[in-house]
Amino acid sequence: MNFKGKIAVVTGAASGIGRATAAAFAEHGASVTLIDHNAAGVQKAASEIQQSGAQALALVADVGIEKEVAAAFQQVAAAFNRIDILINNAGVELYKDFLQFESPEWDRQLAVNLNSVYFCSKQAIPFMIRAGEGSIVNLSSVQALATTGQVSPYAAAKGAILSLTRDMAREFGKHKIRVNAICPGGIHTSMMDRTLDTMPNAAAVVRRMAQAIPLQRLGTAEDIAKIALFLASSYADYVSGASLVVDGGLLSKLPLPEYWE
Ligand code: NAD
Repeated sequence: MNFKGKIAVVTGAASGIGRATAAAFAEHGASVTLIDHNAAGVQKAASEIQQSGAQALALVADVGIEKEVAAAFQQVAAAFNRIDILINNAGVELYKDFLQFESPEWDRQLAVNLNSVYFCSKQAIPFMIRAGEGSIVNLSSVQALATTGQVSPYAAAKGAILSLTRDMAREFGKHKIRVNAICPGGIHTSMMDRTLDTMPNAAAVVRRMAQAIPLQRLGTAEDIAKIALFLASSYADYVSGASLVVDGGLLSKLPLPEYWE
């Protein structure tokens, strides 16, 4: 895959999937802008890319706040005056029983996980229309299609991302802008570690989660970065409005044989 001359913007790029995706685009020739609200983390991730010889710009913004997103994209415009690829990756997951969620937490989950996709896409699409093509990849989740429970606003946001992906694909297809989504399964990043850290038996939980996956392992950030690259590449020229489950087979399982055992 060759992204030479392409400008890619990746949100939530200070760690995990976003960081691996930004590095993968850079490795394949793109100039990347990394956006995150973690200032030290995003600067470190961009520095690592720069050290490899690629062009990387680190920007600090809370993607759940529209004016911060607009300010960040003004800086992208000033640096590159072009955006070819947008990876809407930033996200946060909060585990709580439905009745325990307070309205501000609900609103924040929706702002960071869903509104951010609207805020960032709204900024990037005019550049893509001007260029006559573009590719947007939205990070949804298997939680959009089934649920672990205790993630109601997160699951609602991730489900809405799939609808929004189809809506955007339909509206912007005439400009050769493709919009697709990825639904990752259990990916071992700091998002998962934050949940595991609350458990006394985290190692055993990781082992059991891996055993429950047909491919017998948790996913890595690189497993997802590869798919983001594919969807943004010319190999996926005729793919739009699609969502790709990348979960090691997790969702293919019905629980019946477990009841028989
Ligand atoms: P992560 O916590 O490692 O990375 C998320 C990044 O987003 C962090 O760098 C964080 O600082 C940034 N971020 C969070 N809130 C932000 C905000 N308001 N503004 C700007 N940046 C913000 O998590 P990850 O596992 O790499 O998750 C990446 C995406 O993949 C998320 O959308 C997540 O919902 C999705 N996903 C992850 C998994 C998984 O198992 N890890 C599964 C399905 C979907």
